[in-house]
Amino acid sequence: MSSRNVGRNYATQQLWVNPGAPAANSPAASSPITINHIHQARARLDRFAPLLLTLFPELASRQGLIESDLAPLPALRGMEGAGPSHGRCWVKADHSLPIAGSVKARGGIHEVLEFAEGLAIRHGILSEGGDYTVLSGTAARALFSQYEICVGSTGNLGLSIGLISSALGFRATVHMSAEAKQWKKDRLRRNGVQVVEHQGDYARAVDAGRAKAGADPHCYFVDDEQSVSLFAGYGVAAFRLEAQLRELGVAVDAAHPLFVYIPCGVGGAPAGITYGLKHLYGAAAHCFFVEPVASPCFLVRMQNPDAPGITVYDVGQDNKTEADGLAVPAASELAIREMRPLLSGIITTSDDSMFADLHWLREQAGMRVEPSAAAALSGPRMLLQSAAGQGYLRSRGLLDRMADSNHIVWTTGGLFVPDDEFDRFMERGRRAREAS
Ligand SMILES: *Cc1c(COP(=O)(O)O)cnc(C)c1O
Repeated sequence: MSSRNVGRNYATQQLWVNPGAPAANSPAASSPITINHIHQARARLDRFAPLLLTLFPELASRQGLIESDLAPLPALRGMEGAGPSHGRCWVKADHSLPIAGSVKARGGIHEVLEFAEGLAIRHGILSEGGDYTVLSGTAARALFSQYEICVGSTGNLGLSIGLISSALGFRATVHMSAEAKQWKKDRLRRNGVQVVEHQGDYARAVDAGRAKAGADPHCYFVDDEQSVSLFAGYGVAAFRLEAQLRELGVAVDAAHPLFVYIPCGVGGAPAGITYGLKHLYGAAAHCFFVEPVASPCFLVRMQNPDAPGITVYDVGQDNKTEADGLAVPAASELAIREMRPLLSGIITTSDDSMFADLHWLREQAGMRVEPSAAAALSGPRMLLQSAAGQGYLRSRGLLDRMADSNHIVWTTGGLFVPDDEFDRFMERGRRAREAS
């Protein structure tokens, strides 16, 4: 496939504008996803709130919902003097999501709850509309213990699936890629989750998990590359964000454009969120994914519509990045199909930028994020300062709306990063800032 992409350069940071959007602000044709999947996921998470509250007391402040704050950000690194002409900046603080400490708490937990709900109803333990706290009782736990939940992960999806599965009484196995962080494996093992380590990248870990689960009827495989349930769980975030924006009095319409920047691995999480936001706001929402320069799998696949399965290796990138949550060689085909008509564009960023932003965010806002999450902060900088970004704004008549715009950087993970690891991130970030 290396003959494709002639003339394309993946070696440096860039902003790519999707030629397929936003002309059509309607979902992809022949899509397996509908907005009803997301409404159903919302309702399911509401039904499970009383149970989750009993299992995870840290959810008390939100009555059993897993949700993060939307926090104002005073400025952006490197743009401190830009003033209000660019509009306002916010952090959607999924780095602090309880239970999993990352955006994976949205999709991953939803999918395990959906599986548990179906199983309990089929076995007569739970009735529709009944009391979901019965699912922490002995009958439900005895049922769940006969099943295994299985997933392949670079780390955070494994944490999310493993922790909710073991809390409900399922057996859980997480297939991890070589670049997965040791502390994530340790945390899972401490919680009784089996961790299988695979040489090689994330795609190999997923294949291994899928093969093992396919042979065992008592094993349920969470498929990060194809799952509608995961996608729907992520999509719920859009409705929660809409409520937060309304509460803060932030308008989103043609005169008040909303720009959202979300780190992208396989693409499921950012695609689910984008799907929901485009449903709610249509052309007023401009969603950009952010990927590492070394792992631009979504960019490569969007640019090569005729090459399903194309990888970052095919275009000469090595998939080596400290942003372990984004170290993915090939995009989810489900996410790609959904995003063709909806996504505004993709930004790639270097590890040095991520670390510099990680350091800056800690110093300026006291937020503790992992490198993958810090990638989001490159988004507004690239949109507002690059020629491609200016071209996007100009061609859509947005340049003189920018003072009334809002920019949301989605910080997707970080809560449980151990102190010594975070200290190393800060040290590297300090050096990156000095060098820049
Ligand atoms: C998984 C992850 C993402 C991206 O989600 P995908 O569904 O893989 O695109 C972004 N940031 C962090 C911290 C993650 O763990």
